[in-house]
Amino acid sequence: MILDGKKVRDEILAKIKKKITKENLKIKLAIILVGDDEASKIYIKNKEKYCKLVGITVEKYLLAADTQELEVINLIKRLNNDTSVTGIILQSPVPKAINFDKCSSLIDYKKDVDGFTQHNIYNLYLGKKCILPCTVKGIIRLLDYYKIVISGANIVIVGRGNIVGHPLSLALQNLDATVTVAHSKTKNLGDITKNADILISATGVPHLIDENMVKPGSVVVDVGISRINGNIVGDVDFAKVKDIAEYITPNPGGVGPMTVAMIIDNLIEMKEEEKNG
Ligand code: NDP
Repeated sequence: MILDGKKVRDEILAKIKKKITKENLKIKLAIILVGDDEASKIYIKNKEKYCKLVGITVEKYLLAADTQELEVINLIKRLNNDTSVTGIILQSPVPKAINFDKCSSLIDYKKDVDGFTQHNIYNLYLGKKCILPCTVKGIIRLLDYYKIVISGANIVIVGRGNIVGHPLSLALQNLDATVTVAHSKTKNLGDITKNADILISATGVPHLIDENMVKPGSVVVDVGISRINGNIVGDVDFAKVKDIAEYITPNPGGVGPMTVAMIIDNLIEMKEEEKNG
């Protein structure tokens, strides 16, 4: 069965749109892009498209590649203090002269849509309430939608990156999964992935996961994105794995749409917090 991220995204966004209209919510997302990264521009366009669709205002700050770090810091501080701004995204990557971690950690944690500030990550580590990183939340919501049980499941995550693998391992442990994390130095990767009830690959290595690495009847979630000759290729060899796994995400069309939906979901969560003081 296909884990259809587009369908779930559309259902989530339809509910959110209704809520925003009914409660006349005024939500504004500020997105900061420094430089001309082409992939970032596509991601921002996509975020803008779905925000507009549900009635969220997007304010873009497109800064030149030679912008000084101090200017980015001052902009973040100004947006932190602007009560009309609900959430802030500093789009990654930034030019080398700018320290992404330093700048993004200055975002007010209550406006931290991506869930990357130290406050949110620390609370995730402690298993406390936090804004979850959007891809992590999107994967969990997709599994929930298809009633795939996380508690007690044997989950293997391939990749320990700061954006997906690492925070995902914490979030899934908080949900009582038994989590194994594999990476580029892992020996006999296939022996480990074959034990997974739920296998989640987030490496960016095209077709790393083939039919010999998947347990029959398992769930396979493909997060990785590589571009080959202009086409998106996932970590999972979908054609070979689809008949072995019981559930599988397409890529594109699986985790990507859920990530965008969760940006909007996080903004709603922040608005609720703001209202509740
Ligand atoms: P990182 O580059 O930070 O991490 C990649 C991870 O993959 C590392 O832990 C690395 O291991 C591991 N890895 C690399 N090669 C292998 C290998 N041959 N076998 C096993 N592990 C390997 O990536 P991110 O966490 O930022 O993102 C992961 C992927 O997810 C990317 O392709 C990214 O584009 C995609 N992505 C997709 C999103 C979506 O919405 N669909 C959203 C965000 C990201 P090591 O630590 O040892 O170097």
